Amino acid sequence: MIKMSEETTVKKYFELINEQKLCAAHCASCDSLHLPPRLFCPNCNSKTTDWTQLGGEGTLRSFTVIHIAGTKYAEDVPYIVAIVALKEGPSVCARLVGVDPLKPEDIHVGDPVVADFEELSGSTSEEKATRLVFRPA
Ligand SMILES: [Zn+2]
Repeated sequence: MIKMSEETTVKKYFELINEQKLCAAHCASCDSLHLPPRLFCPNCNSKTTDWTQLGGEGTLRSFTVIHIAGTKYAEDVPYIVAIVALKEGPSVCARLVGVDPLKPEDIHVGDPVVADFEELSGSTSEEKATRLVFRPA
């Protein structure tokens, strides 16, 4: 695991995602991991937080198929949003790709998944955006 001494904000979390790094806030006092990241540890209230890069392995905890989305994601439907329990402990919400959203009966809670990153098309170099996704492992 890689430790980084950057402030554990949600803004920094997405900057790390843009660098294709899935990271959790790590509490140096009680050695716990937190997603979404927090400036203070919700476990022991310490502010000695830093970043730990996660391996991206996890299991599918829950999912839903989105058929009606807001304007920004309307062209993406149908797609799957999942909650993944990561091997290191925290859970994270992200899209599940590499499966057929029209065959949800083929997707099972508990299935192993692995993190991946998608470069979002249409974004300019100043607005470079990367999306965290999970695929079947
Ligand atoms: Zn703590």
